[in-house]
Amino acid sequence: MSGGASGSSEKTVKPCDELSFLDLRRAMESTSRCPICVLIEEIEERYFRNLLYENVNDPSVRENIRKSLGFCPYHAYRFSEFIKRSPEINGLGASIIYLDMLNSHINDLFKDPGELWSRCILCGHVRDFEEIYVYVFVKCIDQVMKIYENSHSILCHKHLLMITSSLDETRRNELTKIHRDKLRKLVELTESFIRKYDYKSREPITDEESNAWRNIIYVLKGSLSSQMSSIHRYMRTTDLDKRRRKSLFKR
Ligand SMILES: [Zn+2]
Ligand SMILES: [Zn+2]
Repeated sequence: MSGGASGSSEKTVKPCDELSFLDLRRAMESTSRCPICVLIEEIEERYFRNLLYENVNDPSVRENIRKSLGFCPYHAYRFSEFIKRSPEINGLGASIIYLDMLNSHINDLFKDPGELWSRCILCGHVRDFEEIYVYVFVKCIDQVMKIYENSHSILCHKHLLMITSSLDETRRNELTKIHRDKLRKLVELTESFIRKYDYKSREPITDEESNAWRNIIYVLKGSLSSQMSSIHRYMRTTDLDKRRRKSLFKR
């Protein structure tokens, strides 16, 4: 882990040589959400962009997508939303891909949707990057913690647990304290927002206050993208469930 020394992390913060550290720093400095969730969403968008610009006709890429018949439901809708939000992208690439998926479906109508979902290539891709970012957060903890403390970003519940479970006790306590202070700030902002409404105060409501409830949701639930990668893992590993699902679809 961080070879960073036994004493106070205030004085001897080693520079982190991990490339992904720069991504983490950028995410922490530019968002009020969980930096790992934000980076995961970026990974998804990059995947869609590369797919549509360069890989629509690549047989191996297409084969990977075909395994899940066009991603899990979440990523299929993310894909559709991504195209809708990107004026420079038309529906041609998506038409080529999903025409292929539809033809596969016509040839095999009774595939178990749950099993298809569990094979979503993008869920696996997201999970791999999630593990890298958590690893770098932990490996570069002294440096990351300083940036985290001075930023508006707040780790979500899931990623806080993933990170703290790999930290030594001292750093776990340190990170927990910083994190708890951030949560208390969120409580204050939300209470302030409510108070200003209740008392018809003339005090202006700040953007931070009006967005606080949204940030609470992000903190407690993280981004859907990261939750999906967990569901994916769960679905891959619960054989019992698989058997049950199979029996539902077999008549
Ligand atoms: Zn997160
Ligand atoms: Zn997926």
